[in-house]
Amino acid sequence: MAKRDYYDVLGVTRNSTADEIKKAYRKLAIKYHPDKNQGDKAAEEKFKEAAEAYEVLSSPEKKQRYDQYGHAANAGSAGGYGSGGMNMEDIFSQFGDVFGGGSPFESFFGGGGGQSRGGRRVARGSNLRIKVRLSLDEVAKGAEKKIKVNKQVICKVCDGTGAKDKSSFHTCSTCGGNGSVRRVTNTILGQMQTTSTCPTCNGEGTTITNKCNNCHGDGVVRGEETISINIPAGVSEGMQLSMSGKGNAAPRGGVPGDLIILIEEIPHETLKREGNNVVYDLHISFIEAAVGASVEVPTIDGKAKIKIEPGTQGGKILRLKGKGVPEVNSYHRGDQLIYVNIWTPKALSAEERTLLEKLQASPNFKPQPGKNEKSFFERMKEYFE
Ligand SMILES: [Zn+2]
Ligand SMILES: [Zn+2]
Repeated sequence: MAKRDYYDVLGVTRNSTADEIKKAYRKLAIKYHPDKNQGDKAAEEKFKEAAEAYEVLSSPEKKQRYDQYGHAANAGSAGGYGSGGMNMEDIFSQFGDVFGGGSPFESFFGGGGGQSRGGRRVARGSNLRIKVRLSLDEVAKGAEKKIKVNKQVICKVCDGTGAKDKSSFHTCSTCGGNGSVRRVTNTILGQMQTTSTCPTCNGEGTTITNKCNNCHGDGVVRGEETISINIPAGVSEGMQLSMSGKGNAAPRGGVPGDLIILIEEIPHETLKREGNNVVYDLHISFIEAAVGASVEVPTIDGKAKIKIEPGTQGGKILRLKGKGVPEVNSYHRGDQLIYVNIWTPKALSAEERTLLEKLQASPNFKPQPGKNEKSFFERMKEYFE
């Protein structure tokens, strides 16, 4: 299903302020909140859609990438929110910022902040950042990278529970497993019920008497995981992709963090990338320029033969259509631009010198630029703007 534009989803524009975006999201979050729309699938989808749009548009960094690259910027084929949207835990954890201390939903989710699952607080693993270096060829074609990542993984001995065995795992007696405790206080407005995180179990709903020896009760240990990352064609230096749930594992059955992949480009030996175009500096002799030639040039797709027309002037730019880098999430591909440099011999034998001096007498060797010829800057503008 095609994703809707995030600005459309929230009913804001590119010029809307952060405050306007927040207000628009607040309205939608209240309207489509699951507690108000029990069992309504369409409302739940709208709720998730709005949360995802807000997640991106509320972050100046993500917003800028979204404005530049569209949906591919924060998801790409590397996962992220592209695959299944945000989960409810992500959405509710956002509410602390959106609604402030007076969240209308606070009572439903066991207090502001943190991750909640049915009232219980669920730990969240931290995000992991890695760099991926790509050759120009990989940038142009997209790449699948298998990368060994050092990270927190689930403890195999206790299966992530942190407990030595089943018998050392208890429902918290303070909160009865809810993870939160309710308190009734009398105020001038009458009785008020407040909910706060259970101090005994830290909101987890369980306590452990005998901790696992391998992870000392954390449920996670330092380990390695080989992660397969699909990088879409057309990414560029400094871009970030995120794979949700591939970051550090969380203690005791929590939600894993995300893997953030920072793209780095390995410079190519002879081809230079300029946006979606690839630029190549070609050097030909002045004889080839005068009589014409067929020369080989490197391209992303291997070697290509190009024709130099007789009478080619230095500084001419030849274009190989579609031999550049694709745009992310698009079928459009840039071009290869070949800048023709004419090589002037730096040393001449006596014999060569005599030959050339003879040719100099011919009027054909006198420079005769046409009045209508475009200037160097005009030509550059044409190609790079
Ligand atoms: Zn408790
Ligand atoms: Zn363990």
